[in-house]
Amino acid sequence: MQTPDSPATPLAETISPPDHAFPTLTANQMARIAAHGRRRSTVDGEVLVEAGDTAAPFFIVLRGTLQALWPREASEALVVTLHGGQFSGEANVINGRRAIVRLRVSEAGEVIQLDRHQLLALIQTDAELSEILMRAFILRRLRLIALDVGDVVVIGSSHSSGTLRVKEFLTRNGHPFRYVDLDRDGDAQELLERFQVGVADIPVVICRGHDVLRNPTSAQIADCLGFNQRIDDTHISDLVVVGAGPAGLAAAVYGASEGLDVLVLEANVPGGQAGSSSRIENYLGFPTGISGLELTGRAHAQALKFGAHVMVAKRATRLACDGRRYTVEVDGEQRIRAGAVILATGATYRKPAIDNLPAFEGAGVYYGATPMEAQLCAGAEVAVVGGGNAAGQAAVFLASTADRVHMLVRGPGLAETMSRYLIRRIEENPAIVLHTRTQLVALEGNGRLERIRWRDDQSGITEDHAIGHVFIMTGAIPNTGWLSGCVVLDERGFVKTGPDLSPDELAAARWPLSRPPFLLETSRPGIFAVGDVRGGNIKRVAAAVGEGSIAVAFVHRTLQH
Ligand SMILES: Cc1cc2nc3c(=O)[nH]c(=O)nc-3n(C[C@H](O)[C@H](O)[C@H](O)COP(=O)(O)OP(=O)(O)OC[C@H]3O[C@@H](n4cnc5c(N)ncnc54)[C@H](O)[C@@H]3O)c2cc1C
Repeated sequence: MQTPDSPATPLAETISPPDHAFPTLTANQMARIAAHGRRRSTVDGEVLVEAGDTAAPFFIVLRGTLQALWPREASEALVVTLHGGQFSGEANVINGRRAIVRLRVSEAGEVIQLDRHQLLALIQTDAELSEILMRAFILRRLRLIALDVGDVVVIGSSHSSGTLRVKEFLTRNGHPFRYVDLDRDGDAQELLERFQVGVADIPVVICRGHDVLRNPTSAQIADCLGFNQRIDDTHISDLVVVGAGPAGLAAAVYGASEGLDVLVLEANVPGGQAGSSSRIENYLGFPTGISGLELTGRAHAQALKFGAHVMVAKRATRLACDGRRYTVEVDGEQRIRAGAVILATGATYRKPAIDNLPAFEGAGVYYGATPMEAQLCAGAEVAVVGGGNAAGQAAVFLASTADRVHMLVRGPGLAETMSRYLIRRIEENPAIVLHTRTQLVALEGNGRLERIRWRDDQSGITEDHAIGHVFIMTGAIPNTGWLSGCVVLDERGFVKTGPDLSPDELAAARWPLSRPPFLLETSRPGIFAVGDVRGGNIKRVAAAVGEGSIAVAFVHRTLQH
């Protein structure tokens, strides 16, 4: 480790302020921040934040300089030097996760210090500073990712589904990591073999420089990186939102911004299905479209800004609904109590009945077409299964990088299942070949997908093709299995709400109140369902966001009684 006296090695692209990522605040802006924190002097070499610290404070330099440093095995690299009027921190300060870089005083002086709660209070009340700080934090995080500055190394292979899962988990959490590809790095492969790391152990994740995790679950990675704060079993949240897709995130933003104490549980990563959409073109206000990752990433940051607690890789496994307060069981162990619950668990993909399909998931079979998958199949032939809007978007998107896209559709055409604008784009795109009345019937390959077979249902003829990338876009099944009979479901398993509940169903469910259920309220008072998990919902991002925000208005009314 270098001492404060020895200059740190600059990164190849050391960031050169000033810019939007490293603005200099005016005297008036600094005075407004100072009102929320405390002034303190600093001494040369003092470490204000250590990499790995949780709940790192936030600093504004009044006099002297601070350096953000990336600690590496035996040295450290200079990320940026902060001068008078500039401030520390990046996305982790807002989400309360571990610090990625060390912050050290390089020239003694004076700073204003705020803890996370003081900072959150500031950005909730000062719109101008909120914009400056949020923009800087997000841009800084993007630069850390671009510079490969991070505390995680993933050693994996594009032939392993675990590798894709882990990379996706880190990427969708916006967490920077370095990737060592075993297919290209013979030395790394030999090293793993010497340590008897088998195929089932891939990927190996080196977390925060010390933990070596073999093919870890998302929950193990989240624990190691300190993604989640501790759940207090005795605390009763005003509102527990289950699921952090667009519907759950909207509920979190509106709930927290309107003063509710909101806890969000997400089984995987915030963003839901929308997070895996390469381009959402029909969401209001984005005329050129927006990637699902960007839209939901912004919503996640917004929910955190308003003070919602978002827990990732935490699955709700049971809902206890006897009595006035509700209890959500998490991963079969912890229990969370809530005054009101919003169910926003969406739906999971409907899959063709092919026995060995799970063996190729993430290794040639995908359920989303993001730039990451598009990169994997650049210049190749691919197949998209399904005739709905998601399939159409995927086909158009993939056709921009793939050599040819085969669309396999069970029905006689697209007209009944797809928006007109998409049908036109598909018809006009010479790289897309539409196969109607056709089904995917077999997948073959050794470790990863190499060949597929489809059948023309009219002629009965099957065809084999050397296609290694298949995108399944065939609709979804609601994630309601964990609700333990608490609320009334429709015949397809979606949650029934408001006027869709008949008097007989309410009587059978022992609805206890004289008023009927509010719009979006289930057969239990204070339990709401929003987004794709709700029966009758229009499966669109805008519908999910609208329902998530509307439900909060009714949550206030149920909490008042
Ligand atoms: C590839 C693709 C492209 C799409 N493109 C568009 C588009 O362009 N325009 C458009 O309007 N719509 C689009 N959609 C549809 C849109 O994404 C969905 O309608 C929307 O995401 C639904 O939001 P939701 O929050 O209700 O559910 P979801 O997005 O499904 O989110 C539900 C969340 O709940 C979590 N969860 C599930 N069970 C549990 C549990 N037990 N405990 C905790 N968490 C749980 C899941 O992990 C998930 O994150 C697309 C969908 C896909 C798959």
